[in-house]
Amino acid sequence: MTSIKIPPDHPRAKSLTIREKLIEHYLEGIVAASGLIAHGRGEAFDYLLSEKTSRPALEGIQAAAATLLTAENPVISVNGNTAALVAEEIVKLANITEAKIEVNLFYRSLGRELAIKKLLEKAGAREVLGVGRKASARILELSSERRRVDPRGIMAADAVLVPLEDGDRTEALVRMGKKVIAIDLNPLSRTAQKATITIVDNIVRAAPSLVQAAERLKKRGIGKCREILLNFDNKKNLAGSIILMNENLTNFAEKTVRITNKGE
Ligand code: ATP
Repeated sequence: MTSIKIPPDHPRAKSLTIREKLIEHYLEGIVAASGLIAHGRGEAFDYLLSEKTSRPALEGIQAAAATLLTAENPVISVNGNTAALVAEEIVKLANITEAKIEVNLFYRSLGRELAIKKLLEKAGAREVLGVGRKASARILELSSERRRVDPRGIMAADAVLVPLEDGDRTEALVRMGKKVIAIDLNPLSRTAQKATITIVDNIVRAAPSLVQAAERLKKRGIGKCREILLNFDNKKNLAGSIILMNENLTNFAEKTVRITNKGE
């Protein structure tokens, strides 16, 4: 545990609490040091979304839920940041969509793999793939440790949810013919651009929404899922997020000018 107490009335209490959670899990060996840097990059883009789930993000969430529900072999890939922030939602989503859960890390060590597995099991996961020798298959063309995958998990999957992914692996998974769903606050990243479905949102908001969307869509049936997917265009949706960030920036600029003028 870290010693910092965040005052609940602090204007950025939510964001600071998330940071503290990541630092705690970093100290416990679950989050990698680079995961803290990646989170900072995400936060910067979240400012441009006014830290709210946007309409394009909601559409991406619907399409992602539909993809997981219609897949033969869906898999949710989990890294340190994802486990630290939304382990319970990942387990719920896996249960609803009958997806497998697989640990996949850029900075692999058996210690981290086991710590993440333990965290997921504490959140209710019955089986966690990709740990130790289980990650015996290799994604060709990738040189990082992320090439190691479980033959029963990502290797055999037709749809993979990859929250907070890196671009190389997204591209490799798409080339392998898999539907890749990314959650990434940066709509300009290679991951966001290359994924089959991109949810431009903070994982702490997107994961619970995804659980809700999957619950609702499961009740409405496969036909509704197919209809959603037929009408979804990832490139248009991504453009929607970029346009929204641009509009928010313009509004911020206009507001700044108004405040400056009032002060004169
Ligand atoms: P790429 O390789 O795809 O071009 P990158 O080099 O930025 O991107 P990483 O360093 O792996 O890739 O960063 C992970 C991504 O995760 C970043 O784009 C960041 O915006 C995003 N990210 C970090 N924290 C969150 C979060 N809480 N929710 C959603 N996205 C996040």
